[in-house]
Amino acid sequence: MYKKLNLIALLLFAGITILAQDQYLTANAEDNEKIYVSKKTYNVKKFPHKFKTDKPKNIILLIGDGMGVSQVYAGLTANKGKLFINNCKHIGFSKTQSADNYITDSAAGGTAISSGIKTYNGAIAVDIAGAPVKTILEEASDKGLATGLVSSSAITHATPASFIAHQPDRGMYEEIAADFLNTDIDVFIGGGLDHFTKRQDGRNLVEELQEKGYKVETDIKAIKKTKSGKLAGLTAAVHNGRINDREDMLPVATNTALEILSNNEDGFFLMVEGSQIDWGGHASSTVYIVEDMLDFDKVVGQALAFAAKDKETLVIVTADHETGGMAITGGSIKDGVVKAEYPTKGHTGVMVPIFSYGPGAEEFTGIIENTDIYTKMKRLLLK
Ligand code: MG
Ligand code: ZN
Repeated sequence: MYKKLNLIALLLFAGITILAQDQYLTANAEDNEKIYVSKKTYNVKKFPHKFKTDKPKNIILLIGDGMGVSQVYAGLTANKGKLFINNCKHIGFSKTQSADNYITDSAAGGTAISSGIKTYNGAIAVDIAGAPVKTILEEASDKGLATGLVSSSAITHATPASFIAHQPDRGMYEEIAADFLNTDIDVFIGGGLDHFTKRQDGRNLVEELQEKGYKVETDIKAIKKTKSGKLAGLTAAVHNGRINDREDMLPVATNTALEILSNNEDGFFLMVEGSQIDWGGHASSTVYIVEDMLDFDKVVGQALAFAAKDKETLVIVTADHETGGMAITGGSIKDGVVKAEYPTKGHTGVMVPIFSYGPGAEEFTGIIENTDIYTKMKRLLLK
């Protein structure tokens, strides 16, 4: 009798398990954002691994905010097994802990990569005592290289800010915007127009940028047409919208920046951030993560296309930290379906991947500190 009941229970359980695995096919509205079902995929090109030199003339650093291995694999699954990132043969891991917290935020994480120091959460290129630390972008600029920043959030947000500004707190957006004027950066494109124009101190930084010789544009179509000179592209009042709203803003902005920066014969440093992979993680939304992961991968594709042609450019693809503790609990590479669960609405402490391509790429392997990314970039680009 018991045996029979057990058997029925077992059969029922097995049935439920089989149903559960196919649950994404009958997702209710509540679950919609946890399951991504591919509608459209894109083709991924393979790039040759032939370079002119051992040391790069240019570095393109691509930061996927909140991009852990699960986020990359969600993108890879959603695009049915292929990403531009797959071109990178050199892979490592970065330890993300900040000076005061096992779980970093994007300000301390950005500062570690931009300046080579561990600082407290919230710090924008200042050390634990609050003293400014030189960033790789500033050092590149001092050496006569062209420099650029591109972001799908506000350009004043923590990640891009930590490459150009020095402030004790990431929330000081107006002070961060003013710091852009203290540099010779050649091109920056992202949101944050309000931080340049609607300010407590009454300064109009757009006018000040124009006086310094910048072309200031707010429309991505006008930005796209710019091929040389100094460019400030401020594409949103604060943050750029989600992908349906901003469309191909990030890939277009990246191409524009590459075009402008490559005019400099001494080389360049460019950082591009895919900001909203992190926001998808905070929202426990697989759909949001995948949309932004694929947008970011297209940016990787553009950077690789440039580097493959130029043969003197190092491309580094990494993250500041992981967000959401994303666990892929189901899916199909054949159908481009990803299902995930999230144990936290915040960041996690896990190490994040580093993918690299080009001269010097072999340096970015093994398990390294996030601060080592700065040290290695500096040694390769500026010494
Ligand atoms: Mg960010
Ligand atoms: Zn975050």
